[in-house]
Amino acid sequence: MKLYNLKNYYEQVNFLKAVKIGLGENQGLFFPIDLPILHKNQIEEMIEMDFLTRSVKILSMFIGNEIEISKLKKYVYHAFSFPGPKIIPVTKNISCCELFHGPTLAFKDFGARFMAQIISHLNKKNNIVTILTATSGDTGAAVAHAFYKAKNVRVVILYPQGKISLLQEKLFCTLGENITTIAIDGSFDECQELVKTAFHDDELRKKTGLNSANSINISRLLAQICYYFEAYALINPEQRRNLVISIPCGNFGNLTAGLLAKSMGLPIKSFIAATNANDTVPRFLKTGLWKPYNCISTISNAMDISRPNNWPRVEELFHRKKWKLKTLGFGSVSDEITTEELLKLKHMGYISEPHAAVAYKLLREQIQNHEFGLFLGTAHPVKFKNIVENILNVKISLPKNLKLSSKMPILSHYIKPDFSKIKKILLS
Ligand SMILES: *Cc1c(COP(=O)(O)O)cnc(C)c1O
Repeated sequence: MKLYNLKNYYEQVNFLKAVKIGLGENQGLFFPIDLPILHKNQIEEMIEMDFLTRSVKILSMFIGNEIEISKLKKYVYHAFSFPGPKIIPVTKNISCCELFHGPTLAFKDFGARFMAQIISHLNKKNNIVTILTATSGDTGAAVAHAFYKAKNVRVVILYPQGKISLLQEKLFCTLGENITTIAIDGSFDECQELVKTAFHDDELRKKTGLNSANSINISRLLAQICYYFEAYALINPEQRRNLVISIPCGNFGNLTAGLLAKSMGLPIKSFIAATNANDTVPRFLKTGLWKPYNCISTISNAMDISRPNNWPRVEELFHRKKWKLKTLGFGSVSDEITTEELLKLKHMGYISEPHAAVAYKLLREQIQNHEFGLFLGTAHPVKFKNIVENILNVKISLPKNLKLSSKMPILSHYIKPDFSKIKKILLS
């Protein structure tokens, strides 16, 4: 698989190199040169396969012969060794596609766990690798658990202090061992900037074998394509005919993966890019002006991102496929409306959480009568226990693994958004 840097077409790398270095020159994102395409009958064949068999096939179409198929199979089986997507009907023509049945109860388990397999594959020679990543909530847990106790891998995670839920924090800041966590007195965007600066620092890159596990990493995106196929396989043929998928977006990795699935030929009619009050993309789609404002804290905190990393990939894919950007549904939902939608969902008999509720609201408004809609359930409601319990007046019980970590002390460093301090920790 060959990829090019979106900022310099002539910087081209293979899949394993792209996974290893994360970003290209000038912090450019890597994008596949060849986009695999499945014919209608191939899609039909694949829909009949089980999730793991199909996922190996999808990933091998991108990765090609860079990883032996028997090994790739082992990695995929290992990475996706947890319950896959579940479709839960909410109204006559809307269902939630729950992607949160993995070990850290968010869809990020799919990408992070596959990436961990690829990093281990690359890391056979006992070199030290440092995974440096910023999280707005759920990436941290998924990455920390995916790499916990992995040999020769150190994980350093930056997150905005006080801007993620206590349970989210407990889930990855209590592990210790090879997991270092740093609470930054600032926003997620500032955390993301610090990570970018680190990747620009040659000394750091060399001495620590720096690698990002952000959704900018192509291995995570490719893994996420697999659950779109599974969601399609799980719905009935009638529902497949006019399928609309609404995605709660932060860094736009999830949307990028969905669009890649469509580009391969999976018949998804359209997507809705749903954001909270951090509405850089919806405003851009409306006005044509890219104008990020300061990041705002909301109750859907994993989407509190005003400079979404993956947007250039979305634009590139539209350009490559000659799709029109105006066919992309979009919208921004305030906390007030999100709260109302959570209550509406409860009335329909479905306990959800703020991220999915944002996607549900826009789907409900934009779906046509003859269409079938899925909104993605990106995290388990228990991860936002306090918010959900307060709004819905219900009790949500903790699954076992959360029960354990909720009692453990937080081991994070606390620092101002100052790169020299991060560097010191990374070199220590
Ligand atoms: C990360 C996350 C999102 C945003 O996903 P992107 O791929 O960054 O757009 C949405 N919801 C939850 C619960 C998340 O953890």
